[in-house]
Amino acid sequence: MDDLRYGKRNRRGDWAPEGRITTAPVFTLPPKPLAFLKWLPQYFLPWNVLFAASAVGYWHAVAPAPDVMATLHWSWILRLFLVNCAAVFLFYGAFELRLYILRTQGNRFKYNARFPSDQKNPAFLFNSQNADGMIRTFCTAVPIWTAYEVGILHAYASGLVPWLTFADNPWYLFGLALVLPIFHEAHFFAIHRLIHWAPLYRWIHSVHHNSVNPSPWSSLSMHPAEQFLYFSTALLHLVVPSNPILAIYQLHLAGFGAVVGHIGFDKIEVGRETAVDSHAYTHYLHHKYFEVNYGDGLVPFDRWFGTWHDGTADGEARMQARYEKRKARANAAETTK
Ligand SMILES: [Zn+2]
Ligand SMILES: [Zn+2]
Repeated sequence: MDDLRYGKRNRRGDWAPEGRITTAPVFTLPPKPLAFLKWLPQYFLPWNVLFAASAVGYWHAVAPAPDVMATLHWSWILRLFLVNCAAVFLFYGAFELRLYILRTQGNRFKYNARFPSDQKNPAFLFNSQNADGMIRTFCTAVPIWTAYEVGILHAYASGLVPWLTFADNPWYLFGLALVLPIFHEAHFFAIHRLIHWAPLYRWIHSVHHNSVNPSPWSSLSMHPAEQFLYFSTALLHLVVPSNPILAIYQLHLAGFGAVVGHIGFDKIEVGRETAVDSHAYTHYLHHKYFEVNYGDGLVPFDRWFGTWHDGTADGEARMQARYEKRKARANAAETTK
């Protein structure tokens, strides 16, 4: 595909989409019904439907029977952990293999012209963004993800929390499933904003921001404290009446969904003239500029808090003006000391 029909490339070879990126037309005033209807399919396709399907598949093929999960036993816990490791390896690895190892679409639609594996970077374990990301993913992220999963499934199976069935509560559970990505966004924005607070940033979140040019294995490359906060999104299902499949869906949105924002390419080509949108530019700008786009724009939190960068020169100017203002405030505080 000719990516210059969809965007532009600068002298360094970095590609950027044409026009401005927008927040989803969901929480807009006045309401924009036509824009909402036009946007609606991308709320489902392909990612959220894929993660909902993976949750259903996981419940039927991987999770043991409730009477088994009612007792904590290492055999089924280990099984869930190994399946999670294999699934992450295959799903993340598929993007890595196709886009970064085989480089089947070269630099087309790639935000940053460079491939992280082409340079050594001492910020990472073994000087490698990939090695660092994989070690953090398999040694801490997937264990923490699995721990939440085990705890929640055990709570359902042992009757500690109410378990609503789809047969008895189809509309409620369907409605809840519909808003889970919105909850994910709100939770992510809140914890993400928190760990950008300078002391927590230095201690925790700077690990994730070592990837200035993110690639698939950057997705869960986080300090364990951030992984612990990130996957706590699933605790919602211990608080509101829900169903274990929806709790698994919540974990899959977080665990598998993370890779979508870190693909580093705007479109994944699937044919000569067809491609799947990643919508990764919003989060790419966060990795590039650090203090913009704390959320992914599903809920316009960044607009409300004045941190939205829409990828245009205007967005850049607004960001610079904010930095200048903050610098002036810091200088003023310094001189009054
Ligand atoms: Zn990130
Ligand atoms: Zn951040």
